Amino acid sequence: MKVTKKHIFSLLVILIIAISAISIASAYTGTGFSHNIPSSKYYDLSASDILSKYNKTDCHVEESAVCTNVVDGDTIYLDNGEKIRFVGVNTPERGVEGYITSKNFVQKLCLNKKVGIDVDNRKHNDKYGRTLGVVIVDGKNVNEMLLKEGLAEIMYMPPSEFYPYDWANGNTHVADTHSSSSSSSHPTSSESTSSSGSASYVGNANTGKFHEPSCSSVKDMAEGNKVFFSARDDAISQGYIPCKRCNP
Ligand SMILES: [Zn+2]
Repeated sequence: MKVTKKHIFSLLVILIIAISAISIASAYTGTGFSHNIPSSKYYDLSASDILSKYNKTDCHVEESAVCTNVVDGDTIYLDNGEKIRFVGVNTPERGVEGYITSKNFVQKLCLNKKVGIDVDNRKHNDKYGRTLGVVIVDGKNVNEMLLKEGLAEIMYMPPSEFYPYDWANGNTHVADTHSSSSSSSHPTSSESTSSSGSASYVGNANTGKFHEPSCSSVKDMAEGNKVFFSARDDAISQGYIPCKRCNP
């Protein structure tokens, strides 16, 4: 009889752990995911260059509105007041490597444009009130593009209408352009226009942080990721946040 009570107790403990794990997971928060794709990869590409690589999606546009703000690679605002969390995917948080590249990619495709949303019919909102959905531009699935480009990781949280593993593995990705070599190999030419010899601050295009030129992080920074600012306000207004080590 003692054994039975113990069993019930340990079952309860397991149940409580499981429930709390599920509720943490359903928060749709960051996992620390990062990637080292430089934003220069997309400098020379237009939105239609990117869109042309992908096939039309089976997802349905259930509502459409203009994207007024891109928070990061997986969250945008619409002019109808809605905040959309891209379902099934997760991109780097602010300050984490890859944040700027993923954010710029979504800005290029969505900002100030009419986008369609296929709302997740199995779960409309996350716990922050954001609408969970697939973002559709020109009939193409942007969530899927983020995964295929390596700009996002899969974040599958059932119940969900969508199964992101299919997006990551499906072969709707029309051949990558690595043979033409025109897109990714010249990051420095476009970068140098924004650089300045007398820069007071150095930003990292990949983390979204900026530094004093003397900060040790600047020495470790890849040349292609350096962005130069003459004024602190310039860095702030472009969405960069101050490094906690050098406190610029
Ligand atoms: Zn620093």
